[in-house]
Amino acid sequence: MEAANKISAGYPWEHERRFNAFPDNFRKIHGTRMQKVSIDAGFTCPNRDGSKGTGGCTYCNNKAFNPSYCLPSKPVTLQIEEGIEFHKKRYRKTGSYLAYFQAYSNTFASVDTLAGLYYEALSHPEIKGLVIGTRPDCVNDEILDFLKDLSERCILLLEFGIESCYDKTLSRINRGHSFRDAVAALEASASRGLDTGAHFIFGLPGETRKEMLYEADIISGLPLKRVKFHQLQIIRGTRMEEEFNNNPADFEIFTWDDYLDFIIKFIERLNPAIVIERFTGEAPPRYLSREVWGKKRTDQIVGLIEKRMEELDTWQGRCFDPLPGGVRGG
Ligand code: SF4
Repeated sequence: MEAANKISAGYPWEHERRFNAFPDNFRKIHGTRMQKVSIDAGFTCPNRDGSKGTGGCTYCNNKAFNPSYCLPSKPVTLQIEEGIEFHKKRYRKTGSYLAYFQAYSNTFASVDTLAGLYYEALSHPEIKGLVIGTRPDCVNDEILDFLKDLSERCILLLEFGIESCYDKTLSRINRGHSFRDAVAALEASASRGLDTGAHFIFGLPGETRKEMLYEADIISGLPLKRVKFHQLQIIRGTRMEEEFNNNPADFEIFTWDDYLDFIIKFIERLNPAIVIERFTGEAPPRYLSREVWGKKRTDQIVGLIEKRMEELDTWQGRCFDPLPGGVRGG
């Protein structure tokens, strides 16, 4: 219990919250909070356009996550201006912004095309950096070298959709890449010093809760700085909805109490050095095939998770063992 006691005496992330929280980490590094302005720059994905497959991931409907000001028919600058106006109405204090290339796979193009889009965003006076969401199979040495150069001139957060550590799942949801591809992309990014994050989904078909929990140990050993977790949300009109309707027993659907219990166990096993950006996803209710948790906003959910961690007197990494394959009991 020595390591556990050391952590409880003062968390390694140096603030009082019980997990390594993104906003606090960002403020510590960059000195201020910044709002993300989403951009749909008209990209597609290799499992949509036929290069690797068609139809995209079985759960995907990008409209469910894209704010209304994001339309690929609008120039990047216009999307930024409308996005900033939208945020200024909601969060008056925010003074600086990051351009979030969010929709589809935002490195799935030549370096010249990427440079044109990213530089346009960075030329906006209120944009201080970029967040680039992409897939592990949409980067190569040339693109990563370009991103490394760019990261020396502005804030740059790279974000990979990985979704699952299991190839059986990745294949079932039509990702078109393997977990090995994901590890290779993370290693290539980390070796260039890029600030790299990843996204995972809990509740994908065919995965047991035990398998999902074990992902905490796998993720803990990956060369990444940030993670976002989502519960599976079944979106209307997707192939996943059809699959769920035909075979609901293949899905671990979490009630809110189940998820609270699960996510806390997960966080306890997660490497405390990894910054957590999200615990849940929040698609607009009109897109959801089924509503399971009632109305809970993301900030309320974070509050409930922290409250429960307080009650249990637990924290991120309490059961993490840095030795390979080790998980501290408890
Ligand atoms: S990679 Fe992302 S955007 Fe592309 S189909 Fe899959 S979930 Fe949708």
